Amino acid sequence: MTNHLFDAIRSAADPDALFLEALDGRTWSYGDMLEESDRIASALDKLGVRPGDRVAVQVEKSPQALMLYLACVRAGAIYLPLNTAYTLAEIDYFVGDAEPRLVVCDPRTREGMAKVAGAHGALVETLDDKGNGSLMERAKAESSAFSDAERGPDDLAAILYTSGTTGRSKGAMLTHDNLLSNARTLCDYWRFTSSDRLIHALPIFHTHGLFVASNVVLLSGASMDFLPKFDPDEVLRRMPRATVMMGVPTFYVRILQHEGLTKEATAGMRLFISGSAPLLAETHRSFFERTGHAILERYGMTETNMNTSNPYDGERIAGTVGFPLPGVELRITEPETGSILPDGDTGMIEVKGPNVFQGYWRMPEKTAAEFRSDGFFITGDLGRIDEKGYVHIVGRGKDLVISGGYNIYPKEVETEIDQLDGVLESAVIGVAHPDFGEGVTAIVVRKPHANITERGILDGLGDRLARYKQPKRVIFVDELPRNTMGKVQKNVLRDTYAGLYT
Ligand code: ATP
Ligand code: MG
Repeated sequence: MTNHLFDAIRSAADPDALFLEALDGRTWSYGDMLEESDRIASALDKLGVRPGDRVAVQVEKSPQALMLYLACVRAGAIYLPLNTAYTLAEIDYFVGDAEPRLVVCDPRTREGMAKVAGAHGALVETLDDKGNGSLMERAKAESSAFSDAERGPDDLAAILYTSGTTGRSKGAMLTHDNLLSNARTLCDYWRFTSSDRLIHALPIFHTHGLFVASNVVLLSGASMDFLPKFDPDEVLRRMPRATVMMGVPTFYVRILQHEGLTKEATAGMRLFISGSAPLLAETHRSFFERTGHAILERYGMTETNMNTSNPYDGERIAGTVGFPLPGVELRITEPETGSILPDGDTGMIEVKGPNVFQGYWRMPEKTAAEFRSDGFFITGDLGRIDEKGYVHIVGRGKDLVISGGYNIYPKEVETEIDQLDGVLESAVIGVAHPDFGEGVTAIVVRKPHANITERGILDGLGDRLARYKQPKRVIFVDELPRNTMGKVQKNVLRDTYAGLYT
């Protein structure tokens, strides 16, 4: 039988080669990966999980949790990972929405989960951060002789919920070929080989750590240091044996604060990749000064896997997300009409390719609204393509501020503010304003010991930004609210400062 994604993983797997090393030093060879995912797939089968059934998973990161993802692929089930931060009330929405056959949770939440799952007719099994639990007990009792379920390129492999940065999370339906085609492209583009060793410190409920990182390692036969979380000490300890790191911008900001980050410490590394949120140009510059490595920034989303990447060989330009990946068509359009804009103009980023998802789970209207009739997906991100062909992300459509009838791109204002002395970072939002509709509002984090004031910022922007783009107010905070993927939660800021001008 053929299983589109897993056949490819299997054929890249040398049973004797190292697949992953956990925090405690325990290792899994590719042979171990094949065997363990086989046993878990058998256990799923015994539990009545059939091809096309959903398996919802809310567990701490562990090698076994990754094996569970692979087991779902093998059993033909649709893997549905959930952010570990979600409360039971939130899980209730996801379980009700996805109607999984099985929910796998941490033993600590079993009791509450059983009520939620029971109400929606799902079974519950457990898996803890050490890789123990009722599911693994079942798996241990199985022999490893599972025959993988028949799955074609267009069968669903996963439903991945978006991060919920702009509203309620949506379940993106991803097929075997969405995942496989994108991982193959990335292996090629980023030159992964079996000699690579990736530092994996990302969560695995999100596309970055789950699909980008893990699938690229699996399909190139590489290995990884599989760490439960980003701890700069641990990451630096692992670096001498590693070759690649994938991270969100906050990883890079944090590791820059560690004195152990030097040219020597990173001498064996060939590539540092960043994505999931914008990397500040300053972070890119400081990292280059400290290590001699130019961080490669790429752009993707839950719905599409990866869309663009800075080049491996060519210039990696800070503040850009590089070129559309091979096979991905990308265009910039006028958001309302969808007409294609010339290079250089700012508009909606739309993409089309084998990476693009099949739609939002059980949201046919929403799905229809986000696709053009010629198959392009409307990403919701605003951007432009420069004269060299690099894509720049200007922000999210939903973040656009309309003040006095003018469109203001927060990123443009943030970039100017960030260049002022004493500013660490900023977030610009629109807040309801009686005269202007929305008032441009800047939330600013000062550098340590800096004492720049609201007046100082406004004066600094005076001759750099047109008057209508200048903030009506500047508010200082110790840090910006971020979610686990390092994304600034502008909805939180908008709520906090909603009454500022009224
Ligand atoms: P939701 O769709 O639920 O509001 P979300 O869009 O944050 O949440 P994800 O799919 O995790 O959920 O994130 C994708 C988004 O992350 C992209 O649409 C883009 O806005 C942002 N993003 C990803 N990589 C980059 C990058 N390199 N630079 C700037 N933004 C990025
Ligand atoms: Mg989104």
